[in-house]
Amino acid sequence: SEAMLKKSEMLSAVGQLAAGIAHEIRNPLTSLKGFLQLMMQSNTYNKEYTEVMFSEFNRLELIISEFLVLARPQAVAFKEMQVERILEDVNVLLSTQAILKNIDLQLEYAGNLPTVYCNEKELKQLFINMIKNAMEAMESEGSINISAHMETGGYLLVKVTDQGKGIPKEQLEKMGEPFFTTKEKGTGLGLMISQKIIDNHKGTLTFLSEVGVGTTVEMRFPIS
Ligand code: ADP
Ligand code: MG
Repeated sequence: SEAMLKKSEMLSAVGQLAAGIAHEIRNPLTSLKGFLQLMMQSNTYNKEYTEVMFSEFNRLELIISEFLVLARPQAVAFKEMQVERILEDVNVLLSTQAILKNIDLQLEYAGNLPTVYCNEKELKQLFINMIKNAMEAMESEGSINISAHMETGGYLLVKVTDQGKGIPKEQLEKMGEPFFTTKEKGTGLGLMISQKIIDNHKGTLTFLSEVGVGTTVEMRFPIS
């Protein structure tokens, strides 16, 4: 969590982020331009080229949609809410994907949890990011446990525990850096956005992980 904090401080350097975005967007654009030029020169339609172009467009779309979360207007979006309602919505949203991967999503919370002053859209995005990462970390069937309960000290603790491949120590410090990913089709933006959302809520984010056993993500939100 200390490493994550440092990362979020570093990220306030807008210039660094902008450079990263520019870089990530330039690569697919260069490739799109190249294939288009090839087709223009030969004056013929090429199926393979257009397939590559299509996947480059998809990548651009994904990168841009992840960044839009940061650009959303913030005013009046905060209200007192029951976080478990948001978790229930996210659970429904991700249930089909979970079934397809043979993953059992278990949601548990002790009744009558206090409300949290929060931005519903942002928390939805945060939980989706974390549960998706949990699902992607699991190579075979298993379960993901999502829980919410009160903690002494005035925090609501939301935990996502997976039975995935875990996170090696040397990788922990890179997590949350923009564009850091270990996935072939990853963007490496989910955790950076998630850390930003948690900061907006004055909360904390902690990873507990054991390689080969699984990972627990702990998200703490102050109770008003
Ligand atoms: P992406 O999912 O696009 O790779 P993220 O920012 O969401 O980007 O995650 C960055 C990296 O952190 C992932 O590529 C993965 O290596 C690691 N990671 C995140 N969550 C988990 C998890 N639950 N288990 C194992 N590794 C994880
Ligand atoms: Mg992710």
